[in-house]
Amino acid sequence: MNTTPIRVLLIDDDEEDYILTRYIFDEFKEHQFSFDWIDNFRDGLAALNENRYDIYLVDYRLGERTGLELLREAVRNGCTAPIILLTGQGDKAIDLEAMQAGAADYLVKSELAAPLLERAIRYSLKHARSLEEIQHSTAKFHSVIQSASDAILLVNEDGEITLWNKAAEKTFGYREEEILGFPVTSLMAAKYAQKALGVGLRYTLEKVISRFSGQIIEAAGRRKDGSEFPLELSGSVWKTSEGVYYTAILRDITARRAVEDRLLHEASHDALTGLPNRAHFRGLLQNAINKTKIEPAHRFAVLFLDLDRFKVINDGLGHVVGDKLLVAIAGRLQAGVRPGDIVSRFGGDEFTILLDSVGSFEAVTEIAERLQSKLTAPFMIDKYEVFTSASIGIIMSDASYENPESFLRDADAAMYRAKEAGKARYEVFNKAMHVRNMNLLRMENDLRKAIERSEFRVFYQPIVNLRTGATDEFESLVRWNHPELGFIPPVDFIPVAEETGMIVPVGEWVLEESCRQIGDWRRRFPKRQLSVSVNLSAKQLMHPNLIRQVKEIMRSGTLHPDCLKLEVTESMVMDNAEAALEVLSELCALGVRLSTDDFGTGYSSLSYLHRFPFERLKIDRSFVGKMDSDAKSEEIVRTILTLAENLNLEVVAEGIETEPQLFRLRELGCNLAQGYLFSKPVAAAEAERVLTHGLKYKFPVAAGQSPYPIDADTVLEVTKIQ
Ligand code: C2E
Ligand code: MG
Ligand code: MG
Repeated sequence: MNTTPIRVLLIDDDEEDYILTRYIFDEFKEHQFSFDWIDNFRDGLAALNENRYDIYLVDYRLGERTGLELLREAVRNGCTAPIILLTGQGDKAIDLEAMQAGAADYLVKSELAAPLLERAIRYSLKHARSLEEIQHSTAKFHSVIQSASDAILLVNEDGEITLWNKAAEKTFGYREEEILGFPVTSLMAAKYAQKALGVGLRYTLEKVISRFSGQIIEAAGRRKDGSEFPLELSGSVWKTSEGVYYTAILRDITARRAVEDRLLHEASHDALTGLPNRAHFRGLLQNAINKTKIEPAHRFAVLFLDLDRFKVINDGLGHVVGDKLLVAIAGRLQAGVRPGDIVSRFGGDEFTILLDSVGSFEAVTEIAERLQSKLTAPFMIDKYEVFTSASIGIIMSDASYENPESFLRDADAAMYRAKEAGKARYEVFNKAMHVRNMNLLRMENDLRKAIERSEFRVFYQPIVNLRTGATDEFESLVRWNHPELGFIPPVDFIPVAEETGMIVPVGEWVLEESCRQIGDWRRRFPKRQLSVSVNLSAKQLMHPNLIRQVKEIMRSGTLHPDCLKLEVTESMVMDNAEAALEVLSELCALGVRLSTDDFGTGYSSLSYLHRFPFERLKIDRSFVGKMDSDAKSEEIVRTILTLAENLNLEVVAEGIETEPQLFRLRELGCNLAQGYLFSKPVAAAEAERVLTHGLKYKFPVAAGQSPYPIDADTVLEVTKIQ
């Protein structure tokens, strides 16, 4: 039982009514009441405003004023205590007005009796308490919502915003009064808003919220100023008797995204040049490969670039200059490709370029040429004028590639090929280059088997006398007829054979076979002074077997020593000069002739030519090849010829491909040459045809007056061709 009495105030200007009411109160059984009376409007209002009582009974008539006015004023002043209005007689209109004004109940005085009044008071108090609780929790709810750091909004079934908190205002820039009642699409990024409107806003809300209920999803919002931003969103549906509501809690994640983006960028880009790094490039290449699988017509290409002299620049001018050069190169490469193409720094001085959707093979080689010419223009770095060039490996997309690794491996092989072929050029990958990628063990095995299975062939390239057109000499060049890969050129397997030591047996076989062949020809063409020029490798030169083998060849009478010439390169000799000198001297003593091969590409020191017993030097084909277009190369050739003359050395020009080269070489006094102009290296049977019928190439001789002193016999020999 409640022990605190309920404080009741009657506001009534009629004393009789007070007494009557008092009596009724005395009859109350259940509750304890304290009962007070005020007889005028003004004091009554003061009591209400001060909230002195638990419940008020207010008479409709209060002198000049009415109880209804008092009720309204009290409610306006914030009174929450229940007010029961009393009237003389029942009046529906007043009843309604009273309820609307906030009265807890409405009673007719004449019907007033203890049970009725007691019940009315009880219910009114209970109701008021419930209301108060609701108000409290609403206020709590509001303060929680308003103080939340996340934007919170409520959207009704029609997609209109019905609740908006302070964080929402901060996030979107709309004040509450500007946004309430507006569709929630005003807060969505354009692409989402369009989609939502397309399929229907209500459908979208239903779908999104039911699908992702309880989850946090990422979307994009739009601020009042129109700017869009990433946000995180969680939502729920709220079904009430008044309809369905959707709540959304949103958080602007622009800052987090920026950090994530930065981290992602840093992880996938090279810090120096800002270009995509190797890992990122790999991913992009994988995408391109996948695309080709779906759309076989889609073709792409990769250029693998390696700078030719970067180490020299880096070591010579310092890392700071080196770094600046890399940045400048990155810039030129990017400026040299289309916007969709991707230039990446693959590592060190290597760059890779993914050319997306390339039309033709020619288009790709054109780009490679363009990039090469862009890189050859000098770079101004600090106070230095830096020159560089790049070797480029090109690979076209091909349905057989499954992963970026094999693709890049082959691009790299092509790039190496370009380096070996003289740098500052490009090479397109072909399957034979696969050999380079075989692991050493497999290559070694294959090489060993190749000897057993007689897979090697010696090809012969005629060395032509430029005065007479006669061909009495050949350079022997080894070929590997691989059972799976077909003919493999020496540049692809000789380095591996060197590394694995297999070059020794291979070289021995080549030497033996070349001597056997030339011995055979010498017997069949006894009038000719035929000779053969055989290449040696560094390992072979230093191997004790070499001398033994040469002696054996001489002893067996296969070949007279002066019919054999051995070619060594400058670097082979200079790497171990003392030991090399010993071997070369011994060979010389045996009567073998020695040539220095690829002259001009190594140290080219004069003392080297003096010290070693060479009879001949072979001008590297890189100079001969450029004679047509490059005055500097011609100057080098001229200098080498003068030098050779002074040192009493014979000269062979390698790689002669055009007639102008032939004319110039002859004018410069060069007597011997080999090159595609006359013949490529050919199999023994084909070489034999040259011996019987002469070269297919006709020396250009105008009738009667030759610009070149070619003797009549030779002209006959050369022109009687097939
Ligand atoms: P090398 O001794 O300088 O041989 C000349 C190379 O130039 C040959 O390449 C020949 O085919 C090529 N060549 C000749 N004329 C022209 C021309 O007009 N234009 C062009 N573009 N090229 C021309 P090949 O046969 O591929 O041999 C490459 C290198 O492999 C040789 O260079 C040599 O160093 C090495 N090599 C070849 N056979 C042997 C061998 O039996 N033993 C060793 N140790 N090395 C060998
Ligand atoms: Mg050679
Ligand atoms: Mg050479």
